[in-house]
Amino acid sequence: MLVGGDANAAAAEAGKYGADKLFAAGGDELAVYNSELYGTALAAFCRAQSPDVLLMGSTAMGKDLGPKTAAKLGCACVSDAVGLKFDGAWEVRRPVFAGKCFTDVTWSTATAVVGIRPNAFVMAEKAGSATVENFDAGTAGVTSKAVVKSVAASSGGTVELTEAEIVVSGGRGIKGPENYELIEKLAASLGAAAGASRAIVDAGWVEYSHQVGQTGKTVGPNLYIACGISGAIQHLAGMSSSKCIVAINKDAAAPIFKVADYGVVADLFDIVPALTDEVGKIRS
Ligand SMILES: Cc1cc2nc3c(=O)[nH]c(=O)nc-3n(C[C@H](O)[C@H](O)[C@H](O)COP(=O)(O)OP(=O)(O)OC[C@H]3O[C@@H](n4cnc5c(N)ncnc54)[C@H](O)[C@@H]3O)c2cc1C
Repeated sequence: MLVGGDANAAAAEAGKYGADKLFAAGGDELAVYNSELYGTALAAFCRAQSPDVLLMGSTAMGKDLGPKTAAKLGCACVSDAVGLKFDGAWEVRRPVFAGKCFTDVTWSTATAVVGIRPNAFVMAEKAGSATVENFDAGTAGVTSKAVVKSVAASSGGTVELTEAEIVVSGGRGIKGPENYELIEKLAASLGAAAGASRAIVDAGWVEYSHQVGQTGKTVGPNLYIACGISGAIQHLAGMSSSKCIVAINKDAAAPIFKVADYGVVADLFDIVPALTDEVGKIRS
């Protein structure tokens, strides 16, 4: 179900990943995201189609839209799903206590709204194309109580953290804001996004948009390089699903080594610049 946006482009993209049909609701009032009108559109769609589950990303937008849509429908709402199975009934797995445990959730309403944690599932390509069917969401002429006046992009890194295939993150081990440049340089050499622990965000060394973890972004890159990060449970909650984790920390007992595939017990001020140079040489 597409609300706003270019239906034909979305159908081509969705088809590549296995969708057979794309329902599209358009109109001037839906051109820019607005949770009230988008929620109304999705609720109308669910009333018309009675789906078992309405899946959406547990992104900033999804976390805003999902509960609103569920409230309109009076149905169950589950956020942050990392697993989904159907065995006669749906069951959704979601992390609790900052990723220390998982809980399996079922529901008793006919439809449920489920938010999927970004990067929790692999996007399996499956050749095909989706047909487009227009859906009248009944939002034409409806005035929303809240109006989105403008949407501004953050000045964060050039590669979006949650989309990046490689993430290089820095923690308190970098000692001061002036040294975050080391992290950015290694990230740039690898075509990676630059992340951060909350310790250095709270200290004002880098912007919040870089924070990885329970109260920051969840990433699932092919490669995650943690530099001077201890590996607190709240940090792991945002990156432990990375395919390969490399930790650089001078303390061999740091908890990050428990989740790392490769560990370098050393001073990051020696390793990170040397690694940046080597990557630069290989790339050139
Ligand atoms: C409710 C709640 C939510 C939270 N959410 C988040 C979150 O989203 N993300 C997050 O990251 N944290 C979060 N935290 C904070 C978390 O508990 C930790 O305090 C934080 O992750 C620590 O950051 P750090 O690893 O950079 O710092 P530290 O724990 O201080 O670790 C610094 C590490 O650097 C190493 N080091 C020092 N010097 C060097 C050097 N020269 N070379 C190599 N290594 C060196 C040290 O050995 C140490 O392991 C949250 C906490 C709470 C209570």
